[in-house]
Amino acid sequence: KMNTTLGQHILKNPGVAGAIVAKAALKPSDQVLEVGPGTGNLTVLILKVAKHCTAVEMDPRMAAELTKRVQATPLEKKLKVMLGDVIKIPNEELPYFDVCISNTPYQISSPLVFKLLSLPNPPRCCVLMFQREFAMRLFAKPGDKLYNRLSVNAQMWAKISHVMKVGRNNFNPPPQVESNVVRIEPKHPRPQISYDEWDGLLRICFNRKNKTLRAAFLATGVVMDMLEKNYRLWCSTNDIALDDSPLNTTEGDVNMDIDGEKMDEDEWAGFSEAGEDDELPDIFEEAQKEAAARRQKGANRKKKGRVAELVREKVRKVLEDETQLADKRATKCDEGDFLRLLYAFNTEGIHFS
Ligand code: SAM
Repeated sequence: KMNTTLGQHILKNPGVAGAIVAKAALKPSDQVLEVGPGTGNLTVLILKVAKHCTAVEMDPRMAAELTKRVQATPLEKKLKVMLGDVIKIPNEELPYFDVCISNTPYQISSPLVFKLLSLPNPPRCCVLMFQREFAMRLFAKPGDKLYNRLSVNAQMWAKISHVMKVGRNNFNPPPQVESNVVRIEPKHPRPQISYDEWDGLLRICFNRKNKTLRAAFLATGVVMDMLEKNYRLWCSTNDIALDDSPLNTTEGDVNMDIDGEKMDEDEWAGFSEAGEDDELPDIFEEAQKEAAARRQKGANRKKKGRVAELVREKVRKVLEDETQLADKRATKCDEGDFLRLLYAFNTEGIHFS
């Protein structure tokens, strides 16, 4: 009995299994990682060609079945079965591998791709089966309906190519959706940019993907707050003093309430008179303290406002003047556009991680 929450759809067409392994162009010296071997239909084909295969399987019954399948055959000594969730295994506990092959349980498609692309020593090539829509996102181009953050990210770190379509009836039990096989070849050498910076930028750009980049950045309070926080941190780690002084003398005047609103005339008159009197009744002392606290709060608020303004101006400058991408939508931007954006932002001290 198959466990469908583990995405157990066994590939029953030997022609498809053979084609997947053939597309990996395995060499006799290759070490392979297989994710989710199940009963081992792909594994035995891999073992016939490669030097070694580590198969990571989460279901102990499947792992036992695979072990039994190769037992007392020449393939046995080439196989290592690792029991566990491939996503949770730390990178350093995975053996080195040249090639990754998987009829991927669709629940882990995205984390698996990112895990493979983030390995310090990425494989030469990965041949992976995904559900159709996910596969098409991986190689979608700017302007395609399925183009999204995954597309930009995957194509930044790897060359992606479509291998073949696989109908649902090639599986037992048949999944609900059609599948596609994709080949992912991580770029060598790895592009010299920070993954977190790149992904942080893409998250903002694609968060409101049908809006212009101007709106994605400047019309989103949480985005501007985050960029301000990062900017303050960047300034402090780089010993750059932030200009937190009041904008001008009138604005710095104590006759301003927290939101820069003028205090009520009578209210103000009451406080100032009290301040000039030596013999203050208690009620005035309280009021004075309150006023002082309020002025302090107002000053803090102005400090924040000033840096926020500075960050806002930097963002505007990058989008409108330096990259001229303000009116473009993320869905139409290519890798070059995002790289220009990241470079221009970082140059201004604006960071995304
Ligand atoms: N490779 C076999 C085939 O093609 O016939 C089975 C593929 S089946 C779609 C996916 C397999 O991955 C199942 O055996 C399932 O138990 C296993 N699996 C699911 N989640 C996993 C995870 N997080 N880590 C490792 N294996 C997993």
